[in-house]
Amino acid sequence: MEIKSVGVVGAGQMGNGIAHVMALAGYDVCLNDISQESLDKAVALITRNLDRQVSRETISGADRDAALSRISTTMDLPQIAATDLVIEAATEREDVKNKIFESLAPDLGPNTILTSNTSSISITRLASRTDRPEKFMGFHFMNPVPLMQLVELIRGIATDKETYDACLAVVNKLGKTAASAEDFPAFIVNRILIPMINEACYTLYEGVGSVQSIDMAMKLGANHPMGPLELADFIGLDTCLAIMNVLHDGLADTKYRPCPLLTKYVEAGWLGRKTKRGFYDYRGDAPVPTR
Ligand code: NAD
Repeated sequence: MEIKSVGVVGAGQMGNGIAHVMALAGYDVCLNDISQESLDKAVALITRNLDRQVSRETISGADRDAALSRISTTMDLPQIAATDLVIEAATEREDVKNKIFESLAPDLGPNTILTSNTSSISITRLASRTDRPEKFMGFHFMNPVPLMQLVELIRGIATDKETYDACLAVVNKLGKTAASAEDFPAFIVNRILIPMINEACYTLYEGVGSVQSIDMAMKLGANHPMGPLELADFIGLDTCLAIMNVLHDGLADTKYRPCPLLTKYVEAGWLGRKTKRGFYDYRGDAPVPTR
């Protein structure tokens, strides 16, 4: 089962990065979104990011041109149904994802593999709603996709070996490294990372440290390249909260209780970098702690 063409659903933060690395690795990519504006922004961003790689001499001008020529965009979802591999990277809502797989179903090629880039939704449950649970799995990229080495490959209960091996071959062709994860809430990276961020929020909430002291402590004391609150702003506080809720609901353990201060920031619409305010305020020249 050799993959040649890839359909990416959702042209947001993750979708554009996935299209970028796939096209650069030689796959024909068709990028789909419900918003033409998102598609236009994604192509502009991919172009800028490829240009930056050319100027840093990590790729040649010819590589950039070839990659761009392999990317097409469409608002018509059925157009991507005939690709060899579909990677769904739309908004993190189960109803949205189910609807996408449902709409694709009538036009799917017989061997098309379906995958989701979900950070936390059960792969087995998403798969069970499709006509091909054995050809369904989790294909979880890290953000930003072009820079991060890891991809988590998540097998649902029904996923067959052929499907897993075909996806592993794609990860290898991208020059990335796969970590195999079982299908339990938040998989490996977020199961460990997001509770740590939540604990940093509790540390702030209880007044143990300020935003600055918590971030500095973890950078200099644990050798983390970014502090946990800085990282939370980068990921998006709404995303962090959603993942804590998935852990709390899915594992029914109070140790995953979302921090009330994290909830408060999300209620305020202070979601981090994307809204220019979170644990830091990004509206000026340099980020300023908000607590
Ligand atoms: P985003 O909000 O940046 O982008 C989502 C895109 O999906 C938007 O452009 C939106 O218009 C589009 N969309 C919504 N409904 C759609 C539909 N029915 N059909 C086609 N497109 C649709 O979100 P993101 O951060 O790119 O996250 C996408 C997925 O990747 C989520 O499942 C998320 O959990 C996962 N993920 C995110 C990160 C991260 O750090 N942001 C990391 C790994 C995985």
